[in-house]
Amino acid sequence: MQATQPVHRDLYIDGKWTQSKKGSRLDVICPTTEEVVGSIPEGTAPDVEEAISAAVRTFQGPWSKSRGSERARFLRAIAQQMRARRDELAALETLDMGKPICEAVLDIDDGANIFDFYADLAEKLDSKQWSSVDIGPENAQDFSTNMRYEPLGVVAMITPWNYPIVQAVWKVAPAIAAGCTMVLKPSELASLTCLELAGIAQEVGLPPGVLNIVTGLGHDAGAALSSSPRVAKVSFTGSVATGRRVGQSAAANIKPSTLELGGKSALIIFEDADVNDAVEWAMFGVFWTTGQICSATSRVLVHSSRLPAFKARLKERSESICIADPHTPDSRMGPIVNKAQYHKVMASIKQAKTEGVPLLTGGGRPSHLQKGYFVQPTVFTEVEAKHTLWTEEVFGPVMGVSAFETEEQAVAMANDTNFGLAAAVISKDEERCRRVAAAMEAGIVWMNCSQPVFFQAPWGGIKESGYGRELGEAGLTSFLNIKQVTSYKAAKRWDWYPGANS
Ligand code: NAD
Repeated sequence: MQATQPVHRDLYIDGKWTQSKKGSRLDVICPTTEEVVGSIPEGTAPDVEEAISAAVRTFQGPWSKSRGSERARFLRAIAQQMRARRDELAALETLDMGKPICEAVLDIDDGANIFDFYADLAEKLDSKQWSSVDIGPENAQDFSTNMRYEPLGVVAMITPWNYPIVQAVWKVAPAIAAGCTMVLKPSELASLTCLELAGIAQEVGLPPGVLNIVTGLGHDAGAALSSSPRVAKVSFTGSVATGRRVGQSAAANIKPSTLELGGKSALIIFEDADVNDAVEWAMFGVFWTTGQICSATSRVLVHSSRLPAFKARLKERSESICIADPHTPDSRMGPIVNKAQYHKVMASIKQAKTEGVPLLTGGGRPSHLQKGYFVQPTVFTEVEAKHTLWTEEVFGPVMGVSAFETEEQAVAMANDTNFGLAAAVISKDEERCRRVAAAMEAGIVWMNCSQPVFFQAPWGGIKESGYGRELGEAGLTSFLNIKQVTSYKAAKRWDWYPGANS
């Protein structure tokens, strides 16, 4: 389904829809047709200030003292509404950012399931309040120590465009579970489904000021949000360059931040791997979401003995991928999100060609698609550490293949990057997979697969891929003030300074 009517949305502040104070709007351009299909408000610093004020007021009211079970009711209601509006939301995501509809549907399901998951954790939080800590028998004679799990405060959330609603849900659901209030600044390239989420929050009666959404540009609305001294935490997902700025402004205010940044992840394929399976995972690892994935395993390291068979199969399979209008059910690869990103991906391909890296397949625009920001699934071989393709994130459907001889060499090659988000290994030897998984410098390692993400497990990177964790219990903990309360319970006076009893 494609939108037949232009899609226009407003800012969502303090439970109300409102125009941006500047009065200007940003076009929503469909990457499949290159046509303007709607607009979003260009929120700027004053709108961000208003949204933060609403979030502060609500945090100071009963919301932050509410029970987890009360907050869980809202989380479950949001999940239910997302499921009820699944097809409509998925179509909007595809219209806005171009991911195939089969992926967008999974994103909406995932988002709903994440709300339910954090509803469970919000309820569990109630039973953990005032839980006691074992401080040892000698101390326990005179003292007791108990734990409180309290919301941090107002959270600033800044998200990218590749998983618009999912990236927002990763932050919004645990923050609601924790009892925080929040201001979300989605990517200016894909904000529509986030604004729909605001609509759902309004429908289910989430108190005004808990979730505020200000759309707008990064250097204006985003910078105002991340540098505000009134926020208690900054949760950012995006590029390394922006993450560095955001982390610095949070640090200047002594505010904690979570940074989920980019990657240049490796997939190691050993000589005992089934070539057909290895090719499937290698393709999924970097062609899923048209390669616009932070954890894409874009560097594929293949044992030299299997390289000829791997390359032959990879070429054949890559050339058979259905690249088509992402609204059609068979489409497995849609366009790149916008014109600027399209040119960036094409520039990376050109750079690899200029550096003399052999091209196995792709490398241009599919001949059957004259409109839209489409790029062929592209594979370069014999990629070496000196090539740009080895070091720089392309964020498009571009794979680099390299050969290795030994396990040690493969691990060293995989770790030869400033990034540390993800890594993957394929081998029939479980022992070897575990050894390699332990040796990889990454926050996520896949064995005999690449990319499946389960929200029950924590997600995040090391090195320049950022710090902190989202999802799982860690995702909730990151929005909590973990407070200890220690009480003196002995009848005798403390009497450290002699003479108190005289
Ligand atoms: P980006 O850094 O350009 O933008 C991300 C967000 O930051 C947007 O909302 C943008 O408006 C905002 N922003 C831009 N400048 C800002 C500033 N000065 N201050 C505050 N906010 C500002 O990233 P992108 O192009 O939207 O997303 C792609 C990047 O995101 C890739 O590098 C990808 O690897 C990364 N990513 C990481 C993860 C992860 O989990 N680690 C997930 C998805 C995407």
